[in-house]
Amino acid sequence: MSPSSLTVKATAATTPTQPGSWPLVTIAEEPADALSSWRRLVTGTDPSARPGARTLVGQWLDPGCIYALPVGGVVVTCDRYSGQWHLTMCTVTDDGLTTVKEWRQKSPMGARAASYIARRLPDTAADMRAVAVQAKSRTNLYDGRCYHCRRWVDAGAGRLIDSGGRKEPAHLSGQCPPPPQVVTPNRRGEPCQLCGNWVERGTGVALRQSEPDPATGSYYRAAHQTEPGACPLGALPGPRNRVNGWCSLCGELVAAGGGYWDPTAHRSLRHAGDCPAPKWSGPTWQVRRARHEPAFKIGQVRRVRVDLRRGGDPVPPQTLGYRVLSETYIELIGLVVEVVEIGRRQWARLCPATASEAADMVADDTVAALDARPDAGAVMAGWSVEKIGHQNPWLAEITGRHPDYEYRREFLLSKRDYTNANSRGTRGVQFHWDLLPNRVYEAAWSVSHRETRREFLKTTPDGDVETISREEVEAWLNHAATWAAS
Ligand SMILES: [Zn+2]
Ligand SMILES: [Zn+2]
Ligand SMILES: [Zn+2]
Repeated sequence: MSPSSLTVKATAATTPTQPGSWPLVTIAEEPADALSSWRRLVTGTDPSARPGARTLVGQWLDPGCIYALPVGGVVVTCDRYSGQWHLTMCTVTDDGLTTVKEWRQKSPMGARAASYIARRLPDTAADMRAVAVQAKSRTNLYDGRCYHCRRWVDAGAGRLIDSGGRKEPAHLSGQCPPPPQVVTPNRRGEPCQLCGNWVERGTGVALRQSEPDPATGSYYRAAHQTEPGACPLGALPGPRNRVNGWCSLCGELVAAGGGYWDPTAHRSLRHAGDCPAPKWSGPTWQVRRARHEPAFKIGQVRRVRVDLRRGGDPVPPQTLGYRVLSETYIELIGLVVEVVEIGRRQWARLCPATASEAADMVADDTVAALDARPDAGAVMAGWSVEKIGHQNPWLAEITGRHPDYEYRREFLLSKRDYTNANSRGTRGVQFHWDLLPNRVYEAAWSVSHRETRREFLKTTPDGDVETISREEVEAWLNHAATWAAS
């Protein structure tokens, strides 16, 4: 139809009602050979702007996008080709967009076209707005999984949709295929829907359910096969263990792959099939490696500490190296018979060492006891350290063992000297303690803003303070009671 044959009067505009009742309008795509384009709902004019398109104000519209527009609204489009400008003025009617006038000219929009449009704006134009109903969709140029149904969309067969700023391929609207009843293989390890035993990830199928799982939201559940009779007979009730560990039922070692994690009991390992007969007739103990200790190896003779709060066999007092550190914390010399790694943590199972196995360690103990013997000093010694940074230095007397903190510590109050301190107290504050002879202490302090030091300390007969090794602290704690008694 020829635009000139139309005489749409601007007064045809009605008062804008609710967007829900407005006509839906698809904004023209940019022509493929156009150098640039714009589309706009014109809502007014700016007389102060340079004559031409700039005097028109209003909301930009996206090509290809569907909008709800109020009847009477004026939409102007402009496409620039090389040396040519195509302008169109349309109005919104109940049937969509109706072209009012077209211009094909060798220059951009000038004052004449702009004022033609401005004169035909409805009275209500200033209140008008466009409501995007459906974003423009482009053909997907690459294949991928559908944003909606996660099934494959071939390049060019679907569209691109905007998902939070990212373009994702999707099937055309309403063209997602119905979901498959069976997906092969299963993407998740879980109990089989048919037999209840475990299906490892990727080894079975996934069957579609009528309702999503309330916990996971998934419509699929794994199964060994699609047919109920086809489930393997030897399937385990839980996922196979990839690393070794101890059976939660019998306490014996389960080699990697020789058992399963019981899905009904959180992180408890079970033997596959029947539990074996106990491997060790006497008591055994499981201990965790402390951070400063070397790794456990099978066949090692080790002095270890058993935390009886975790259960386990009682420790007979005749066990070599037997020493009560606290009521539920016993030291002993044992032979490492099994080692288990859980993440970065290492655990060992030990049986009591024989006299010949423990001989060297018992001898070392005697030497250490002699070395650590009190030096009969009787002089109190002062020890000071300057506070650096925000962390206060601390000093504690070590009075025994603790299963959680390694040592029982009695933190001592410091005397503080602010004479040379800065105003914020972050530098120059001197912390001072008096150390008694024949005791062992531990102290921690910052040597710079990044580095802290932690040392064991004791006094010397001359009234100085020296750092001592962990072994000396151990020997001290092991024998202090006997010295006190003698
Ligand atoms: Zn789809
Ligand atoms: Zn099954
Ligand atoms: Zn077992």
